[in-house]
Amino acid sequence: MQLPTYDDVTAAAARLEGHAHRTPVLRSSTADARWGAQFFFKCENFQRMGAFKFRGAFNALSKFDAEQRKGGVIAFSSGNHAQAIALAARLLAMPAVIVMPKDAPAAKLAATRGYGAEVVQYDRFTEDREALTRRLATERGMTLIPPYDHPDVLSGQGTAVKELIEETGPLDHLFVCLGGGGLLSGSALSARALAPGCKVYGVEPEAGNDGQQSFRAGSIVHIDTPKTIADGAQTQHLGEYTFGIIRRDVDDIFTVSDAQLVEAMRFFAERMKMVVEPTGCLAFAAACAAGPLIAGQRVGVLISGGNVDLGRYAALLGGTA
Ligand SMILES: *Cc1c(COP(=O)(O)O)cnc(C)c1O
Repeated sequence: MQLPTYDDVTAAAARLEGHAHRTPVLRSSTADARWGAQFFFKCENFQRMGAFKFRGAFNALSKFDAEQRKGGVIAFSSGNHAQAIALAARLLAMPAVIVMPKDAPAAKLAATRGYGAEVVQYDRFTEDREALTRRLATERGMTLIPPYDHPDVLSGQGTAVKELIEETGPLDHLFVCLGGGGLLSGSALSARALAPGCKVYGVEPEAGNDGQQSFRAGSIVHIDTPKTIADGAQTQHLGEYTFGIIRRDVDDIFTVSDAQLVEAMRFFAERMKMVVEPTGCLAFAAACAAGPLIAGQRVGVLISGGNVDLGRYAALLGGTA
């Protein structure tokens, strides 16, 4: 298996030029003073469709040949990957099918359909979504794009940290949230190339630390779907490509509790006037808890997305969730 390299990230950046937003890098003097470091927040909550996943989806779909474009793309997801694939397919004028559970939130179904994708629903309790998706892909001649374990997806995700370090110059530490590892592995490729001295950390929810276990064991560990408010990081295992890069290029993996995520979410709302979804708070929550590790240093924090139901957001911040 050949792992993608930083050259694949730069090629992805060229494909994304003019299609993805170059998201802002924000500062907070309150954060700097309170935690004694210099923070640089890369705000992918302001990316198209509200999360970094647009980068990987658009990069992967841009590489389709004429026949693949004609058949279109298929994906299974009830989260940001669904919307990313749907939007990228619409922009590239190809058909898209998204396989989603029958009990997915109505807002997510509507958002995915709103981007022009066809939604195929399945029963989470009786049907195997991967088997269903593969059958549909064969029947309809569609190409399956997975949410993280794909060279073009992770190379696309790596363009966010490429932009970050190009803008800030070298960083001492970089914190990135970790689900299946597409964002972390792509980010590590960029950090290794552009800031060789920068330490790169993945951050998972405490309840689902399969990545940390895998990193320590040296092989991919599988877990049951974890119970956490970080719904974008409820993955059960890393991928072959993502783990190959993470074990080589990442320095450590931290975990944070749901309570720490809510604290970070509150800080973003109160101090930076930003809506960040729980999963998007993982990196900052870990940085806040890092203490002496980051004291006086230049710290990159990747904010991964801002898609959260406002009723749920209010309940989490109000302490009634
Ligand atoms: C998908 C997602 C993640 C996790 O990304 P991986 O590439 O699976 O590690 C984190 N945050 C948000 C907002 C996401 O949508």
